[in-house]
Amino acid sequence: MANRILGLHHITAIAGNAKRNFEFYTNVLGLRMVKKTVNFDDPGTYHFYFGDETGTPGSILTFFPWEGIGQGHTGTGMATGIGYSVPKDSLAFWSDRFTKFNVKQDEIAERFGEQFLHFKDPDGLDIDLVVPTNEDKRQPWKTYEVKASVATKGFHNITLTLKNVTPTATILTDILGYHLLKQEGNRYRFVTDAIENASVVDIIEAPGLSPGYNAAGTNHHVAFRVKNDTILMDYREKIVSKGLGITPKIDRDYFFSLYFREPGGVLFELATDNPGFAKDEPVNELGTHLKLPKQYEPSRAEIEKVLPQLN
Ligand code: ZN
Repeated sequence: MANRILGLHHITAIAGNAKRNFEFYTNVLGLRMVKKTVNFDDPGTYHFYFGDETGTPGSILTFFPWEGIGQGHTGTGMATGIGYSVPKDSLAFWSDRFTKFNVKQDEIAERFGEQFLHFKDPDGLDIDLVVPTNEDKRQPWKTYEVKASVATKGFHNITLTLKNVTPTATILTDILGYHLLKQEGNRYRFVTDAIENASVVDIIEAPGLSPGYNAAGTNHHVAFRVKNDTILMDYREKIVSKGLGITPKIDRDYFFSLYFREPGGVLFELATDNPGFAKDEPVNELGTHLKLPKQYEPSRAEIEKVLPQLN
């Protein structure tokens, strides 16, 4: 089991305003900011990581907040929906909370026998709160307003929208160890039995839909989880052998990564459990300091000056 793909590691999306993004995810949704750093390729902008207490893989939603980037739109060739797992009987709480905070939401609905509540974050990112069929035993991060009885427990699924299900399904089944669980209309549900949670990938097949545009309110990439960087490099071999282009191993400070574009157009990443977010600040202080990769530490004063204020 240990050498398999262990479901989702993190999902990365794009936001416009940093302060609004920070306030929504920590206050309204009740997640913990587990790391506040900069975009390693663009150090004048933040990179936020939101998750559970320690940023357990499978709970981590990350954002690049780019002021003034403009609105993206969903379409084919991208991840179009994030599903968070929530406790049974919590959806009424969330619906009331979203009303209170003027969050755009739909009625509670059902898919694959699971109740869910769809809402949009302040940039228009599509998120579902899902009550999974099997009880989710993960410990949630809780806040004063979002108690453990209703708090999100990490991811349930990611949804990809694609012109054609087959080429991407082949990557999921032949390389990443998923299998087709069921189909409802044009939605195909793939699952891995390598891990209990964050184990679902849904594909919506939409041949007539135009491609998405990646800017605020859309997902940038989807990262799958592996235990360590030895296993990561084994997967690199497997992906290369399928004829796909893939990056070398990249040190992201809190994990090691590989990136490849799957045939449906979605940017996939494989990311490791090691070394984790407690690498450079204690668990009880995660997310409270601006952490910079060492190449930018000499420029800290300039970077802090250009980054937007969050408080
Ligand atoms: Zn990533």
